[in-house]
Formats: sequence, C-alpha cells, structure tokens
Amino acid sequence: MKINLISDTVTIPTPGMLEAMMTAKVGDDVFKNDPSVNALEEKIADFFGMEAALFFPSGTMANQAAIKLHTNPGEQLICDKYAHVYNYEGGGVSFNSGVSCRLVDGNRGMMTADQVVQSINPPDFYHSPLTSLVCIENTTNKGGGACWDFHELEKIKEICQNNGLNYHLDGARIWNALVAKNESAKAYGGLFDSISVCLSKGLGCPVGSVLLGNKEFIDNALRVRKVLGGGMRQSGFLAAAGIYALDHHISRLKDDHKKAKEIGKVLEELEFIKKVEPIETNIIIFELDEARLSAETFLGKLEENQISIIGMGQGKLRVVTHLDYTQEMHAHFLKVLKTLG
Ligand SMILES: *Cc1c(COP(=O)(O)O)cnc(C)c1O
Repeated sequence: MKINLISDTVTIPTPGMLEAMMTAKVGDDVFKNDPSVNALEEKIADFFGMEAALFFPSGTMANQAAIKLHTNPGEQLICDKYAHVYNYEGGGVSFNSGVSCRLVDGNRGMMTADQVVQSINPPDFYHSPLTSLVCIENTTNKGGGACWDFHELEKIKEICQNNGLNYHLDGARIWNALVAKNESAKAYGGLFDSISVCLSKGLGCPVGSVLLGNKEFIDNALRVRKVLGGGMRQSGFLAAAGIYALDHHISRLKDDHKKAKEIGKVLEELEFIKKVEPIETNIIIFELDEARLSAETFLGKLEENQISIIGMGQGKLRVVTHLDYTQEMHAHFLKVLKTLG
C-alpha cells in the first residue's frame, strides 16, 4: 500500500468522476462552443454569486491573468511573504505583468488590515511604485492551510475601496476554508474583485482552475488567457470533472480535516518533533528536532514504509490529506508514526 501525502494534487479521478468525463458533451471551447465548459463556468459563477467565470488549465495561469488585468507595468501589489503568487509562480508577477510585490510579514500567510495600510505607497509620491492590488490567499498554502478571519478580509476590502486598489483572492483551497469555517461562497463573491479557485486540489479533478469576476473583467481575461496560451479545445472533458467535483467533493473535505487533526495529535506526542503548527484544514506543517532526528532520516524511514511526505527545508515537513487517502492508509500511517517515536 503506497501512501502519498506530498500534496492534495496527487489524486486520480474517482469512477464517478471518470464516468462524468467520459460521457461529457464537448465542443471547441476556443470558439466558446463547449457546453460542459460553459456549464461549469456558469455553475461556479452562480456558486460565488459573481457575474462571470473562465476555465483555466492551472491556478497559476488564473492568478497571473488576474494580476495582469488588475495592474499596469511598474506598479506594485501587496501580498504576504508566504504568498503563492510571489513564491511559487516562477516569477510570473514580474515576467507577465512587470509588477513588483510588496511583501508583508504576516502570520501563517495572513496579514492584518493595519499591515496592508502601512504597505500602500502614497499615490502622489511619484518616486515609489504605484500600489494597485492586494492579493489574499485562503487557505494559505505555505502558512499550513490556515483560514482567514472573514472580518479581517472585510476590513482590508474597505482599505482597498478607500485607496482605489483592486482586491484578488487566490482561492486555490477556498473550498477547505468554506467547509472548515462554515462560510458562504457568496460572501466571498461579494467581497473580492476577482477570485481564482483550483479544481485539482482538494476537489480531486485531474486538471483545472477557474477565474471569477464581473462580466467586463472576464471578457478581458479571455484575451489574456489566449496570450498566455491557455485556450483549450474540447476541454469539456475536464470541465465535466469540475462539475462532478462541485456536486460531490466539497462537503467531504471535512474528512480530510479530521484526519489531518488526528495526524497532528500523534505528531505532537513524538519526542523528536519540536513543533506542530495549528491544524485548521488538510495541511500539516511540523518541525523536527534535528539534533535527535534529521529530516532526511525521518523521510527515509517513512519511505521504507511506502509513505511519502515532503520536506520544506530547515527541518520543516509537510503532510497533506486528500480524497485518495483512505481510512486504511490513515490507520497504517498513524501506526508507523507511533513506531518511530
Ligand atoms: C496550487 C496553488 C495555486 C495554483 O497552482 P497550479 O499548480 O498552477 O494549479 C495557486 N495558489 C495556491 C495557494 C496554491 O496552493
């Protein structure tokens, strides 16, 4: 039994999802003639109560398109120092949009409204880059699946409005936050100018992300997606997986969260583990006491037991629970961990 906990992107489509894909009605989406893609875009827009949506091959491309549309070259966006758009999109912010990032030293990937205010360059001080966008990530990836306090997001919205800034949500794992905090998608749709979501993370799709915004924004996003090479043809086969996931794979995320918390409990009892970060959703980040056990040795011992997790450097490790991580695997993983203690 191989147990892969390196990410929630490692899932393969369930039989039900495959069936939905195989029987999907498709057309050429570059001509906007794919009924399944159109249905997915409408369904997600409706879910968040936003005007329009556009299917993308990846979350990176969806974020990059949003940043391109919200900024002009030379301007600056504000994000947490852990942000995916800054750390893990290949430098796309500067490559695609000619924009710099003002990094905020937040907590587990989350900044406060005060920190955002302090990061805005005065627009009349022409020596500094013009601040034009604030990017939020929920749940935070590098922050260990942490969920924002919605009230703080509302305060930041007000700051954006008062300062003429656009407000983008990188919601690759927004589904996990909605389930963990019992929040409404429409509340998020009402707050942000644009939202990107991933179907290929916790929801178990093989490929796919969606960008949401108002009609004019999404009309323009179509051109940017074209420029980035993201136009796809019979992508309804992938969109059908997305529709299936929205119908079947959201509420079950609570199982991933429960397993993650149970793993956290076991980790906390192991004496070679220095610290387990708070676990709110499906990501567990913990730190080894490397004087007792090095990350390399620990990873090696897990590999001997067919268990893969990922190292983040400096003795930090990450485990991510997901749809393909069964109860049987869970029991086995916990048992192996206890034997290493
Ligand atoms: C995974 C992820 C993305 C997008 O990733 P892709 O692999 O390009 O789909 C964006 N933001 C966050 C926070 C992510 O975790």
